[in-house]
Amino acid sequence: MALIVQKYGGTSVGTPERIRNCARRILESQRAGNQVVAVVSAMSGVTDNLIKLAREVSPNQDPAEREMDVLLATGEQTTIALTAMAINDLGGKAVSLTGAQAGISTDKVHTKARIVNITPKAVKQMLDEGNIVMLAGFQGQTAGGEITTLGRGGSDLTAIAMAGAIQADLCQIFTDVDGVYTCDPRVVPTATKIPEISYDEMLEMASSGSKVMQSRSVEFAKKFGVRFEVRNSMNHNPGTIVKEENKGMESVVVRGVSIERNQAKVTIDDVPDRPGVSAAIFGAISKANIMVDMIVQNVSTDGLTDISFTLSTADLPKAESALRSVLVSLGEKAALRTQTGVAKLSVVGIGMRSHSGVAARMFAALSEAGINIQMISTSEIKVAVTVEEALIEKAARAVHTAFDLDDKASA
Ligand code: ADP
Ligand code: ASP
Ligand code: MG
Repeated sequence: MALIVQKYGGTSVGTPERIRNCARRILESQRAGNQVVAVVSAMSGVTDNLIKLAREVSPNQDPAEREMDVLLATGEQTTIALTAMAINDLGGKAVSLTGAQAGISTDKVHTKARIVNITPKAVKQMLDEGNIVMLAGFQGQTAGGEITTLGRGGSDLTAIAMAGAIQADLCQIFTDVDGVYTCDPRVVPTATKIPEISYDEMLEMASSGSKVMQSRSVEFAKKFGVRFEVRNSMNHNPGTIVKEENKGMESVVVRGVSIERNQAKVTIDDVPDRPGVSAAIFGAISKANIMVDMIVQNVSTDGLTDISFTLSTADLPKAESALRSVLVSLGEKAALRTQTGVAKLSVVGIGMRSHSGVAARMFAALSEAGINIQMISTSEIKVAVTVEEALIEKAARAVHTAFDLDDKASA
């Protein structure tokens, strides 16, 4: 008998019929002789809708994050109960548990809490009594009993963390595509399913825009060595195994291509080229709790330089007001410029550690497609550029083809 954790995402539980489909699959897994914990997300669109409602009732200020968590946790609470009912209706025996009931303890950072500990006593007891455990994704509880949520896409983290805590034999992430592809198949229709991928590559892809997995969940899986499979809830095709790297994996130079839209570029022109300037700029940005991505500083002329960086468009107004307050301290010529409509394109692969020429090949492909590169950044296993957002799909397809990633059958 194996112990299995499955996770079904929002689209997979998006309608009553789809909930019954998941209930059937969960029940089949148990009837094959296994113990099953099934994590579910809110039905698709529900979390977005709750966020919209919160903004409507609080147009003058951001709602308190504590209240956002109380609100958002209801989405998953609905689906655990409905899926448990569907399983029971099909002749099975299921019981639903919220994050708190399942012993998922987090820190106090509302809306993006981190799991600090899992006490799976109730989960184990329910399993031993022959139940399927329906576990609410995306939520936990602080030591003080407050409801928290784990950041968008956080049901992936619930599944992986619970699989680690109960030492599950198998962790399966069911979604609406057959696995992890060489690029989002909605953007590049010739993308190929990747049979297996290392934690590091999955992490770089997820954090550079491939939202098929929440990046924090992959980080967790890597840290605790939780292997998992990403697969389709609507068919029985084999999916993608995400696991520790092996020697063979380095022979592929580029594993995948990611895109991230809704980026903005901030430039501060004519700042003095002296110690303390970057510290003042990024100190103000960090104090406003804004995450920056690429940072570029130009070579100085006449003692003055320009600094540019990218961030999510949603954070731009906050960044502008944070920077205005430090601008005066950056010299009389310092001027702030911003640009929206920017997107990021990244190529990822652990093979880059041992192969050169990846950046040159990527830039050549973009040049042949007539696409201008605005900013460039690199890491050990990634090369990323920003381009005009309107051109991002064309850019992704050109680079995907240049690295020979197109599915031969559909190309
Ligand atoms: P779920 O609701 O099941 O969590 P998500 O919408 O979070 O599903 O993730 C699945 C989606 O991720 C797919 O529909 C696909 O459009 C998108 N996606 C982005 N990048 C990739 C990729 N490299 N491989 C597969 N899917 C991807
Ligand atoms: N319902 C949450 C979201 O939409 C969590 C999840 O789906 O994983 O972000
Ligand atoms: Mg998801």
